[in-house]
Amino acid sequence: MTKFKIEINRTTEKKQKPQFESLEFGKNFTDHMFVMDYTAGQGWHDPRIIPYQPLTLDPAAMIFHYGQSVFEGLKAYLTNDNEVLLFRPEKNMERLNKSNSRLCIPEIDEELALHALKELIAVDREWIPNVEGTSLYIRPFVISTEPYLGVAPSKRYKFIMILSPVGAYYKEGIDPVKIAVQNEYVRAVRGGTGTAKTGGNYAASLKAQELASLTGYSQVLWLDGKENKYIEEVGSMNIFFKMNGEVVTPELNGSILEGITRSSVLELLKYWNIPFSERRISIDEIFQAHADGQLEEAFGTGTAAVISPIGEFFWDNKKIIINDGETGSLSKKIYDTLTGIQKGIKPDPFGWSVKIEDKEAAAIK
Ligand SMILES: *Cc1c(COP(=O)(O)O)cnc(C)c1O
Repeated sequence: MTKFKIEINRTTEKKQKPQFESLEFGKNFTDHMFVMDYTAGQGWHDPRIIPYQPLTLDPAAMIFHYGQSVFEGLKAYLTNDNEVLLFRPEKNMERLNKSNSRLCIPEIDEELALHALKELIAVDREWIPNVEGTSLYIRPFVISTEPYLGVAPSKRYKFIMILSPVGAYYKEGIDPVKIAVQNEYVRAVRGGTGTAKTGGNYAASLKAQELASLTGYSQVLWLDGKENKYIEEVGSMNIFFKMNGEVVTPELNGSILEGITRSSVLELLKYWNIPFSERRISIDEIFQAHADGQLEEAFGTGTAAVISPIGEFFWDNKKIIINDGETGSLSKKIYDTLTGIQKGIKPDPFGWSVKIEDKEAAAIK
């Protein structure tokens, strides 16, 4: 018996499932969703699993006007033994509350959220794709729903979780990306909302992303908002470099998002006794290291791609190619280890994988 009571209302009309061989990111959604409401004075209430459906909101709902919202992103994986694994999901719920706190959204019971997620996945279990490299992407988010045009924290919210089967990020082996360094627009500044996972950060990033795409670059590397000099992160990924045998990544300086993949990579490096440091890294230093023949690898880290090797940087009219545009051996090793743990193929000495027990599924039948 669990201490949480989550109402379950199953759909009577199951949707047609997409072809699991050709899934696109974020386009298909499962049969159910989780919803919980917040009302000032009452707190969070009515946690429920209901058929996936549109929301009805007042046009004055605060989310439409001032963007008070947060989100998370994680994945569930089906193992070869037909078990369902989540990767460090408690970290996502913890970060959700950190983002909530920055955006003045009331805290959510992390245990309840994780429990609700497991139940939701159990209800929609048949939507977890079983094709190599695929997974079930999970999108928890909170929106402010009070109808009010004054600028203040909302008195009402909805916490929602939706699920989306997604395809393999790499269809034919890991493919290094080309990245344009952005030196006009900035994503975040210290004291801003860069450390929170909030939609506004992404709205602010679209312009630079669009410009980069026009010139054939798939992602933007952001520099610090003050001096336009120090490396922060890439699109929706944290960034790592291997220089002269050492791995470096920008320190958590108050404007970078603390990625769970980033933390996991740091823990792996420690476990493998590979020297690393978290520090300030200027873009000059990277181009200089390349000129000196010491820049061995660069890669991004994030839930979507896990590891995304970087083959090229463009900055200030200069272009550098890293490791001949090929995936480096460390990038590959980290990728294989993390995806191996996520899929339950490799040993998990850190206890990162969380299994959704069959009894969780059974309890809600
Ligand atoms: C989500 C996100 C990341 C990656 O975080 P993970 O927990 O590793 O998925 C990195 N940067 C930004 C801006 C993000 O929103």
